[in-house]
Amino acid sequence: MKVYMKTFGCQMNVHDSERIEEILMRAGFEMVEDPAFADVALVNSCTVREKAWHKAISEAGRLRKPKERHGRQLVVGMLGCVAQQEGERIFSLVSGMDLVVAPDHYHRLPALIRQCAADGQRQVAVGFDAGHPEDFLALSEAAAAPISAFVTVMKGCEERCLYCIVPSVRGPERHRPLDDIEGEVRRLVAGGTQEVTLLGQKVNAWREGERSFADLLARLDNIEGLSRLRFTSPHPRHMSPEVASAFGSLRTLCEAIHLPAQSGSDRTLKRMRRRYRVDDYLATVTALRAARPDIAISTDLIVGYPGETEEDFAQTLALVEAVRFSGAFSFKYSVRPGTPAEKLGDDVSEAEKASRLSRLHEVVLRHEQAFRAQQLGRTLEVLVEGQGRMPRQWSGRARNNQIVNFTCPADVCDPALRGQLVRVAITRVNPNSLEGEWHP
Ligand code: SAH
Ligand code: SF4
Repeated sequence: MKVYMKTFGCQMNVHDSERIEEILMRAGFEMVEDPAFADVALVNSCTVREKAWHKAISEAGRLRKPKERHGRQLVVGMLGCVAQQEGERIFSLVSGMDLVVAPDHYHRLPALIRQCAADGQRQVAVGFDAGHPEDFLALSEAAAAPISAFVTVMKGCEERCLYCIVPSVRGPERHRPLDDIEGEVRRLVAGGTQEVTLLGQKVNAWREGERSFADLLARLDNIEGLSRLRFTSPHPRHMSPEVASAFGSLRTLCEAIHLPAQSGSDRTLKRMRRRYRVDDYLATVTALRAARPDIAISTDLIVGYPGETEEDFAQTLALVEAVRFSGAFSFKYSVRPGTPAEKLGDDVSEAEKASRLSRLHEVVLRHEQAFRAQQLGRTLEVLVEGQGRMPRQWSGRARNNQIVNFTCPADVCDPALRGQLVRVAITRVNPNSLEGEWHP
């Protein structure tokens, strides 16, 4: 059977989708790019903000429309966080759906799809773990290792920031044993992977007995052949001095960190239950820069949280000015059903949220451009991902996460350059990327 899948949301979902594809292909399914040729259409959904929920529901509605095609049945399924959130309610939200499968049940997808195709009965698999607590959706031994790979180190989240639906849709925290993580990274590296990104909702809270996240990083740093190590997303409350200093001492740890601040107001942080103060956040930034002065620090920010005043918002702007982030994702607060913040109401008007978001964007963009401008004249190590748009042009990412396009002589730039680490002298700064020349 041919399967089309549309993925929304965070890197964790992107990673889940890659593993789902592998599970399906191993079971004899074929992935297709065009839903018109599919027998099965899946939406891997996100519900972290209201807009994401709407996107997932409308995509499912769009996909199930041509249900009967040439006398063949189309199986339509909802996966991901909306599947866990809505469960059987999906069937009344979107008519014509057949499958609802939450993240802890992906290993059952081939059987559920086949069952559904055979008897037309709806299938629902939601809830946490279902007897597979050890299943962190690792890449199978038979699969080809990507140049840049994600590795899950923990599932779920029990942090319970008041606005966040993740704890209820991704379930309790389960930390993966260090030996398993190391085993997967070693397998990937042996297969040709250069760069590994460790994944978890609060990845730096990972523990195993006495071993902390800093110990995990140090262990992985020893793996010969691994060129780059990254992790996402750390929580500021769990940023230990050891993890900050690792940016200065570990060979593989890239000089880039995405550290969601959410707000620059202590009053708002308290009302979000983030359990750190702005000064704590700034102290972490200082420690990171002491370890690695050129580190790229990016963040997530929410505007219009219930009760956020103009003064609170001004403090968020002040935080952006103080940290000089290399980039930030900014979001308008939206109420998520069942979260504790639901009770706080939603008292900042839509117009006010829009105004704060656009003022925030302006400041963020200024610092983003300034960070990029600092790269001019530097020679950066680039992991080549593929060919650029122009002849002899290649594209990849620097360790600080900047996209770099570069040209090099025809005799050097053959397709084997993909997956290589090269040095590029930066000669030009574009609005969203850097440009340079291959530097032998
Ligand atoms: N686990 C990560 C990110 C989780 S969700 C962390 O703790 O940092 C990704 C981002 O979505 C969050 O960082 C936050 O900025 C945003 N977000 C989460 N819930 C939201 C809500 N109800 N309204 C608006 N933005 C939200
Ligand atoms: Fe949500 Fe907070 Fe957990 Fe991040 S740490 S997933 S924001 S509850």
